[in-house]
Amino acid sequence: MKYVSTRGLRDLGGFSDVLLMGLAPDGGLAMPERIPTFGQDELESLRGLEYAELAHAIVRPFIDDIPEDDLRRMLRATYHPDVFHSTEITPLKRLGDSNLHLLELSNGPSLAFKDIAMQFLGQVFEYVLERRDQHLNILGATSGDTGSAAEYAMLGKTRVNVFMLSPHGRMSAFQQAQMFSINEPNIFNITVQGVFDDCQDLVKEVNADADFKARHAIGAVNSINWARVLAQAVYYFKAYFALKLPAGQTVDFCVPSGNFGNVFAGYLAKRMGLPVGQLVVASNENDVLHEFFSTGVYHVRRAAQVAQTSSPSMDIGKASNFERYLYLVAGADGVQTRAWWEQVGGSKPVDLRDSGHWDAVRASGFVGGRSSHADRLDTIRRADQQFGRLIDPHTADGLLIGERCARAGVPMVCLETALPAKFEDTVKEAVNRTPPRPQRFEGIEEQPRYFTAMDNDAAALKAFIAEKLGKAVENVS
Ligand SMILES: *Cc1c(COP(=O)(O)O)cnc(C)c1O
Repeated sequence: MKYVSTRGLRDLGGFSDVLLMGLAPDGGLAMPERIPTFGQDELESLRGLEYAELAHAIVRPFIDDIPEDDLRRMLRATYHPDVFHSTEITPLKRLGDSNLHLLELSNGPSLAFKDIAMQFLGQVFEYVLERRDQHLNILGATSGDTGSAAEYAMLGKTRVNVFMLSPHGRMSAFQQAQMFSINEPNIFNITVQGVFDDCQDLVKEVNADADFKARHAIGAVNSINWARVLAQAVYYFKAYFALKLPAGQTVDFCVPSGNFGNVFAGYLAKRMGLPVGQLVVASNENDVLHEFFSTGVYHVRRAAQVAQTSSPSMDIGKASNFERYLYLVAGADGVQTRAWWEQVGGSKPVDLRDSGHWDAVRASGFVGGRSSHADRLDTIRRADQQFGRLIDPHTADGLLIGERCARAGVPMVCLETALPAKFEDTVKEAVNRTPPRPQRFEGIEEQPRYFTAMDNDAAALKAFIAEKLGKAVENVS
C-alpha cells in the first residue's frame, strides 16, 4: 500500500515510512492511496475472531511492508489481557435495558482509550527502528492523557526516547502522578511555565528548526500519526460483532471528540464496509466540530479562545484529523484540501453550505452535539443512578449526545474514552464520592516525582534535549 498526502503530494512511501514521518513534506497528513473494503461475506468471516486476530485482518491491507508473522506477533503482544486487563480487550456493556451500549476502551495502562493505539505504536516503532538501525526522539506536548499513554507505551524501548512537555501544575493530580512517577532512562518529563498551548508552540518551534530536528531525529506521537488512526478502527469492528446483530444491520456510534482522531477511525471503518449509520461527534463548550456539522462552516478557534473545561482532553480549537475527513469527503482531492487548509491557516472559515461537498458531508452520516459542565455532572449522576455505572466527564459528553441522537431500533454505541479515576474531582462533584481506582494506582500521588521544570523557552528546551541525547550516546558506547 502506497501512502499519499491530503494536500496532494503523491508518493510518501509505505506504512513504515509514514509511521516515522509526522507531517508530510507538503504539510498534509498521510492517507492510504485507496481504502480496502470488506464485502458482507468477508465481514461475516471476521465475526468471532479474538481481538489480536481481528486487528490483523483489519490493519493488514494497509501494512504490506512488514512480514505477516512479525505483524501478527506484535499485535498479539499488544492486544493481550495482561496489557488491557480483559480477554475482550474492549468489552461492550449494555446500559440497563436501553439501546445504549458503552464500549470500554480505557482498561489499558494509562486508563484512557489512547492506550489502544499507543501500545501498538510502541511495538511497531521499536520494530521498524530496529530494522533500519535508527533511533527516534519523540517530542510531544500533553494536557494529560497523551503523555501518560505515550510514556507507558515507550517504557523500556531502547530505540525511542520521549521528551514530554506539560503545563506546570495544570494537569489533574492523578495525571501528574502517573507521568512523574516514571523513572526510566528514556523518559523525560518537562513541565513548562505556561498553558498547554505554550507547550504545543514549543514543540512547533523546535520542529521548525530543520537542522536540529534532523540532527536529533525528532519524531511525534500525536494523533496525526496514521498508525494511531488505523489501530483505532479495529474496535469499531469489535463492537459491531459484540452486538451479535444479523448480518448487515446498522449500528450508530457516539464519540467524545477533540482532535477528531477517534471518530475519524470510525469513519474509516465505515468506508471499509462496516455497516455504520450515524457517527455522532460529541463536543464540550469548545464546539468547533458541532458547529461544522450543524451549519456547514468550519471556523477554528485560536488558542486564546479555547475554554478550559471539565473534559480537558476535548479542549481543542483546531481538530488536526478533520483534514483527513474533508479530504475523503472531497473524493480524495488533494488540491481542494490544500485550498481549504490555506483558508484555515489564514484563520478564514471554510464554508461548505452551498457546495456539493455539503451533500457529501450529510451523506457521510456525521452529526454533532455539545454539552456544558452542568450537562456532564447531570449525566454522570444519571448514569450512576439509572445504570449503576460510574463514568468520566468525557464519556459523559458522549453518553448525553448519544442518548439525544439515538434512533429506535438502532443500537447506539458510546465510546468510553477514560476511566472516572482519572478525573476524580469532577466525578466527585457529581456523585459526592471518590471513584474507585485500579489497585496499581493506589497511593500513586505519594511516590517520588521525576521531572524537570523549565521556562517557556525554546533555546533552553533544545539545550536540554541535546544534553540528554549526548549522555544517552555516551552510555551506549
Ligand atoms: C484524547 C481524548 C479525547 C479526544 O479524542 P480525539 O481522538 O482527539 O478526538 C476524548 N476523551 C479523552 C479522555 C481523551 O483522552
